[in-house]
Amino acid sequence: MQAVSNYPIPNTFGIDAKAKLFIEYYSLDELRQVLTEHKNERILHIGQGSNLLFTKDFDGVILHSGMARAKFLDDETVEAQNGLRLDDMIAQLTDMGYCGLEKLSLIPGEVGASAVQNVGAYGCEAKDVIERVYTLDVETLEEHVFSNAECQFGYRDSAFKHELKGRYIVTSVVYKVKPGDAVKTREEIIETRNGKLPKVGEVGSAGSFFMNPFVPAEQANALLALYPDMPHFEVKPSNNLKQSQTTSNYIKIPAAWLIEQCGWKGKTLGGAQVWPKQPLVIVNANNASAQDIIDLAAQVAASVQEKFGITIRPEVNYI
Ligand SMILES: Cc1cc2nc3c(=O)[nH]c(=O)nc-3n(C[C@H](O)[C@H](O)[C@H](O)COP(=O)(O)OP(=O)(O)OC[C@H]3O[C@@H](n4cnc5c(N)ncnc54)[C@H](O)[C@@H]3O)c2cc1C
Repeated sequence: MQAVSNYPIPNTFGIDAKAKLFIEYYSLDELRQVLTEHKNERILHIGQGSNLLFTKDFDGVILHSGMARAKFLDDETVEAQNGLRLDDMIAQLTDMGYCGLEKLSLIPGEVGASAVQNVGAYGCEAKDVIERVYTLDVETLEEHVFSNAECQFGYRDSAFKHELKGRYIVTSVVYKVKPGDAVKTREEIIETRNGKLPKVGEVGSAGSFFMNPFVPAEQANALLALYPDMPHFEVKPSNNLKQSQTTSNYIKIPAAWLIEQCGWKGKTLGGAQVWPKQPLVIVNANNASAQDIIDLAAQVAASVQEKFGITIRPEVNYI
């Protein structure tokens, strides 16, 4: 394992924040050792830092996995270790003539977080292709396997973000695949994404800053009377919403449309900017501080609330 003090925390926003201690481990035994040695400290396990906004230095231990291998369990399942970049795995599977995950192509981040976040794009979510998730219990140091259903996946959501948060580290994920040609789909998705999303390493961002809101059908219909062109999608509540929201119908409204209607496309605040090609994304355009990004996001959300009466919530995790 490698441990470095006062280490700049990797994050795709390009925010300067340091970890008191940054540790990369290369086996489950090393992970157990780290957890034992730092039992009483604040611990955060990160992947590529592509969905995180560090608001200050981290006064604790940042953990990262250097385990990055994948293997076929049989012809229909692949087990990938938490530190493998999701897109590297998809590229390899596509080259080998396997399909199933190609719509998730080019989503930044690692295998571990793909299950935590239930990443998704172009109508496919990780939950559609995850069979089970292997974890290490931070308290008992024992392995625990979660079935797909036990992960309680929702829209960019899972139990690992709620009741299981901080208790389990995802160590590997078993994905369902099947033989098939996904080369063309992958190429098209890469082209589309490169055309509208900031490229990691070139422009700092965490991808979509906000989640798409689900509003009660009644409210959506009232808005449609005022804005007949408003894009809207019916959702199957059981797929995307918490139990408490399943009693009435909900409509998904793209947050990007709401933000654009409020005139935010391309607007800046300090070094932060609403990305001109996709207003759902906030970028670090010019040495932004975390506060610039927080303030811009708050102003965007406030204006959507004022104009449409809709609350949009960050997808990005503030740390
Ligand atoms: C340009 C860009 C485009 C993007 N496009 C999309 C998109 O199309 N769809 C989409 O869904 N997302 C998208 N994202 C967001 C991001 O890629 C995903 O949220 C991704 O899953 C984050 O992975 P990561 O490894 O960087 O995790 P991090 O950002 O490092 O961590 C995310 C969360 O997972 C936790 N975590 C990480 N690893 C583990 C682990 N092993 N065990 C337990 N918890 C863990 C962290 O503590 C944190 O809470 C985009 C981001 C960028 C920058």
